[in-house]
Amino acid sequence: MHLLFGSFNPHKANEMRAILGSDWQLSWCGEFPDLQEVEETGADLAANACLKAEAYARATDLPCFADDTGLEVEALGGAPGVHTARYAGPQADATANMARLLTELNGQANRRARFRTVVALAVAGQPTRWIEGVLEGTIAHAPRGQGGFGYDPIFVPVDESRTLAELTPEEKNRISHRARAVARLPELLAQLKP
Ligand code: IMP
Repeated sequence: MHLLFGSFNPHKANEMRAILGSDWQLSWCGEFPDLQEVEETGADLAANACLKAEAYARATDLPCFADDTGLEVEALGGAPGVHTARYAGPQADATANMARLLTELNGQANRRARFRTVVALAVAGQPTRWIEGVLEGTIAHAPRGQGGFGYDPIFVPVDESRTLAELTPEEKNRISHRARAVARLPELLAQLKP
């Protein structure tokens, strides 16, 4: 089956290819020069994942799955959550976002956090469905490691001492929130009407 991964992020597209393997013919938004990036205006992760999947499926005529990820920090009441990408401001990069999070957690003993990924599948003429994957962990006191992207250098998965940025790509893809959500993609595909 030819599936579109509804993302313009080349890091995530590479992760997705590694996670899904060769059973799928996978395209991503970077292959469509005329495709406009959809604004994430939804109130929560599921709303954003659904609106991206539906918009890119409509624009390309391909079945499309899209993900939206949030980092939920317990001591911050679940923030940054749906605002994870722009935590330090509209133009913020990963370094600025991590710096803000470390500042917010300064002196905080409870550093428990989780990455949550919602994956939505949109197919023309069918209701959009979604599932989620979660990775529990803690926020480190300073960034460590060169791998991954985003908040990886400050996220230590449960039962690990290394940050996600210190794991190999294979190690990260075995446990990641995105891998856990995508592993459930066949559940969504099985619900499609013929
Ligand atoms: P998105 O919804 O996947 O675009 O992700 C929203 C924000 O979460 C972005 O700032 C990403 O950098 C961050 N993020 C998403 N997935 C990961 C991950 O696997 N590791 C670290 N940060 C991530």
